[in-house]
Amino acid sequence: MNDKELIIGSLDDSSLLPGMKLHFLGYGSGHNPKLGSNSAYMKLPGDGMLLLECGESVFRTLLGVRYFNKIKYLTIVLSHTHSDHSGSLGTLVPYVYRRTGTPVNIIYGNIRQRRELQGLLDNFGVPPMHYRLVSVRRANAINLERRVELFGGAPLFIEMMKTHHVPELACFSILIMQMTDDNPSQIFWSGDTDDFLPAIAMLQTFPNCHIYHEANTSHSISHTDMDEFNEALLTFADDDIRLADKWRKRITLMHLNSDAACRHATKLGYSVPRIGR
Ligand SMILES: [Zn+2]
Ligand SMILES: [Zn+2]
Repeated sequence: MNDKELIIGSLDDSSLLPGMKLHFLGYGSGHNPKLGSNSAYMKLPGDGMLLLECGESVFRTLLGVRYFNKIKYLTIVLSHTHSDHSGSLGTLVPYVYRRTGTPVNIIYGNIRQRRELQGLLDNFGVPPMHYRLVSVRRANAINLERRVELFGGAPLFIEMMKTHHVPELACFSILIMQMTDDNPSQIFWSGDTDDFLPAIAMLQTFPNCHIYHEANTSHSISHTDMDEFNEALLTFADDDIRLADKWRKRITLMHLNSDAACRHATKLGYSVPRIGR
């Protein structure tokens, strides 16, 4: 048995992801709907879709995505249930269930988040048969059994790490790991947070980890201040400008509060998402 089989079982090549490419549907903050609700999807084997965040504009935007119109199953992971991250659930879930005949998987990070999601879906009047709430631990276990319904049997492993955002809601950063070969890659999705240190730790720990981090220029509490984040990056790089530049190339700033914030991010050397890329 080679290493690949040891890690992921004996998946055939058709189950392997071509790469963990995120396709953004929007990258605005809650109060900047012009750029769309911050959200992205990843294609999964077997015409599946993994959706990160499901805010107000997501359903409408997805309807215009050709790939969405042929999906056979949908798995959603939310960092938290603020409306700019969950506002499309009430329409998207019944729509996908009716079209595919398959309940939508909604992955949660802990019991508190499960309760918050359940309350939201109940208030939206979504029938329980249209979805299933799956703990992240259970989702990984199911996927390791190479059952297709969550990640299409792709060699993915998801971690949800509690992060600091607002006291009213559970909030998580999401780490998606692709465990294909001797060159594993990761995506770190910050969710809404004022704590950027875990992202910097990921940069230092995993050479193939791409960071998607929320940032703003409006100094709003509960969120990451772009300039503070940028300064911390340089500090952790021991003032090595070239190392900090290298790290910036692996960071996409998202959940942006204005066009000026996008320009500032680009000027500092970060990527910003492009819709439809
Ligand atoms: Zn938000
Ligand atoms: Zn929020």
